[in-house]
Amino acid sequence: LPQEFLDAKPIIETIKQAGFEAYFVGGSVRDTLLGLPIHDVDIATSAYPREIKKIFKKTVDTGIQHGTVMVLDHGEGYEITTFRTESTYQDFRRPDHVTFVRSLEEDLKRRDLTINAFAMDETGRVVDMFDGLSDLQNKRLKAVGDAHERFHEDALRMMRTIRFASQLDFKIEEKTFQALGENSALLEKIAVERIHVEWIKLMMGKNPGCGLSAFYETKLYQHCPMFSKYGETFNELSKRKLEIQDEIEAWTLLSYCLKMDGKDLAKLLRAWKSSNETIAQTEKAVAALESIADRRVTRFTLYNAGETGLKTALAVAKQMEITVDEDKLIHDYRTLPIKSKKDLKANGGDLIKEAGIKPGPKMGEILDYLEEEVLFGRVENEKTSLLELAKQRMK
Ligand code: ATP
Ligand code: MG
Repeated sequence: LPQEFLDAKPIIETIKQAGFEAYFVGGSVRDTLLGLPIHDVDIATSAYPREIKKIFKKTVDTGIQHGTVMVLDHGEGYEITTFRTESTYQDFRRPDHVTFVRSLEEDLKRRDLTINAFAMDETGRVVDMFDGLSDLQNKRLKAVGDAHERFHEDALRMMRTIRFASQLDFKIEEKTFQALGENSALLEKIAVERIHVEWIKLMMGKNPGCGLSAFYETKLYQHCPMFSKYGETFNELSKRKLEIQDEIEAWTLLSYCLKMDGKDLAKLLRAWKSSNETIAQTEKAVAALESIADRRVTRFTLYNAGETGLKTALAVAKQMEITVDEDKLIHDYRTLPIKSKKDLKANGGDLIKEAGIKPGPKMGEILDYLEEEVLFGRVENEKTSLLELAKQRMK
C-alpha cells in the first residue's frame, strides 16, 4: 500500500469498528495498481453522512448533498462519500440528486470505466467486479456495463474516456469506442467548463496522440466550442509526439497549429471560458512564437513575452520543429536592461517631483519613450539620465 493509503488506514478501521463498510475507491486505487503516484485519496462507505459525523469529531460538510463529508485527521482531510446511485439522469448530465445505498456493488456500478471502478480494502485486497484488472493489464479503457447507456447518462464520460487514453496511453475498447462515435453530439449538453478540464488534461497527458486520434475519429471535436472546422488539424496533431507542460502551452500550440490570428484566439479562449489571465498569457506566448517562427525576434519580442512567455514559446517551437537557438534567446532575454516598466529607475512620481512634468497622457507617453530607450540601450537606466531625457522630450 502507498504511504497515502497507510496514513488513511486508521480512518477506514474506525468506520469498520462502528459497524460499517469502507474502501479506497476511484482514481487513487487505479493509480496505485498502475504504480503511479496518487493525488487524492477517496474513501467510500456504507455509512450515511450523519453516521460518519457521529463517528468522527472533526468533520466538514464539503459536499453533503452528494454524500461527501471531509474528516480531518492529523492535519489531513479525507473525503468520505456514502455509497450511492445516480438513478435519475436528465439532459445527459450527471444528476444533482443521488440516492444513498448500503451496497458497494451499486456504488461501483455507477462509475464510468472499469479501471475506475475498483475498491480496495485497508489490507490492499482489491474488489474487481467488472474485470478491470484485466483491462488494466491490457491497457484498455472500457465502460462499466453498456457504454451507450453510460454515455447517455452522462456525456462528460466521453471526454473523460479520451483524456484517460492520453494520460495512461491506453486503447479504447471496441464497443466503448463505437459508443463514443454514436453519442459524440451529446457532449453539447455538458458545461464548457467541465469539458475544458478534460481537454487540458488530455493535451497534457503522456500520449496526447492517443486521445487526439479518438477525439478526431469519434467526431467529439465537432461538439467542442469553435473546433468543428479543424478536424484535419486534430488528425495531424494526433500523429505527433507532444509533451505539454501546462495549459498555456497547450493553447499556444493549438493556436499555432490552427493558424489563428490574435482575434480568433481570444474568441476561442473565451468560448472555452478561459480566464482573462489565461488569455493574456497565451497571447504573449503566441506573439513570441510567431516572431520566432518568422525569424524576426527583437528585444521587444523578448521583453513583451516575459520569461514564462518566452519559455512557453520555445517549448512549442521545439515540438513544431521550428529551428531556433534557444540558449541565445534565453541569454538575450536575461541580459535585457529591464524586464518591465517597474525596473525603470525613474517612475511617474519622479517625473512629477523632479522634472516638473504634470500627470496625464503626455506623462504616459514619456514613460513609454524612456522604456524603449532603456530597453534598446540608448540611455543608461539611471535616475539622473532618465530625468534629463524626460525633460528634453517634454520640449
Ligand atoms: P484523476 O486522477 O484525474 O482525479 P479520477 O478517476 O480520480 O481521475 P475524479 O474526478 O477524481 O477522477 O473521480 C473519482 C472517481 O469517481 C472516478 O475514478 C470514477 O470512479 C468516478 N467518476 C468521476 N466522474 C465520473 C463520471 N462523470 N461518471 C461516472 N463516474 C465518475
Ligand atoms: Mg481523483
